[in-house]
Amino acid sequence: MYDYLIVGAGLYGAVFANRKKDQGRRCLVIDRRDHIGGNIYSQQVEGIEVHRYGPHIFHTDRREVWNYVNRFAEFNHFTYAPVACYRGELYNLPFNMNTFVRMWDIRTPKEAREMIDRQVREAGITHAANLEEQAVSLVGRDVYEKLIKGYTEKQWGRPCRELPASIIKRLPVRMTFDNNYFNHPWQGIPKKGYTEMVKGMLEGTEVRLGIDFLARREELSRLAERIVYTGPIDEYFGYRFGSLEYRSLRFETEVLEISNYQGTAGMNFTDSEVPYTRIIEHKHFTFGEGNPEKTVITREYPLAWRPGAEAYYPLGDAGNQALYEKYRSLAEKEKNTSFGGRLGTYRYLDMDQVIAQAMEDAG
Ligand code: UDP
Repeated sequence: MYDYLIVGAGLYGAVFANRKKDQGRRCLVIDRRDHIGGNIYSQQVEGIEVHRYGPHIFHTDRREVWNYVNRFAEFNHFTYAPVACYRGELYNLPFNMNTFVRMWDIRTPKEAREMIDRQVREAGITHAANLEEQAVSLVGRDVYEKLIKGYTEKQWGRPCRELPASIIKRLPVRMTFDNNYFNHPWQGIPKKGYTEMVKGMLEGTEVRLGIDFLARREELSRLAERIVYTGPIDEYFGYRFGSLEYRSLRFETEVLEISNYQGTAGMNFTDSEVPYTRIIEHKHFTFGEGNPEKTVITREYPLAWRPGAEAYYPLGDAGNQALYEKYRSLAEKEKNTSFGGRLGTYRYLDMDQVIAQAMEDAG
């Protein structure tokens, strides 16, 4: 009946379906949730677009991906410039001259460099074996203690000394007064929201929601020649080698009767006393659109993950990677099924990477 049964109406599934539709293939997309979009799902509250599963800022350096998404959404000129709050002190992120001026009351890039270099020397780390050592050897002790340690330990639920250095490798450090979190040339938020963008990708494709593939695998598999599975790969195989680890999140969303709560889309709470990692104030993604008297904020609490909970961040340490490789070998032997997306390939992919992966896989 269908050429492809696509399990998961998230970004990977939507892009894959869209490409196949353009190639004249018939696709059926199913999802166990009652909405499309996966974790980029957004929804209007008081005229404000609320990112239901955590903030998503689109950024890319891939021209073909940027051209592709612009077919489905007009993007605004938002750039992410989050603020960190450490015991009530505010610092700009990512680490840049604004951060260093506030931290050390210095004026020039030279002074900032000398300060960092001195702290790195004092730490005496020659080979960074874990996240703490990696962070200290990049930005020195002060920035590590105030802006990295607390946030990271809350986020990942373990001491920085027990986390892989790789988590922090991509952290930008700038000797300019530039608060833009990302280095990519294209960045923005879809003016009508992410859900509308995904809706555009799925236009002309049949979508059925509230359907759990794994619960009805036999019957659903018969509907199509091929299956594209974007759920957790270990769940697909019944956790037969054990479950892969993730970090989960709990979101606490509130509508406040004020026009502007924190003056920025993202405020990170980098000390260990505050139990959440950040507060997102959604209206700032679209420059204050929506009800001018109200605002919507979301506190983000990291959470240990158990099978059945929503999986957000794959834990990319060596043990989990080795376990994933075992599942990947099984996946390669599946005749009619391929795997894609963040959960299907157990990788922390940004949106543009997911789109690139789906475009490549769909051909
Ligand atoms: N991080 C930090 N302090 C911050 C923000 C990030 O130490 O204020 C570290 C933390 O270890 C985190 C990593 O940088 O896991 C990556 O953060 P990013 O903001 O890129 O992650 P995301 O927004 O995808 O959760």
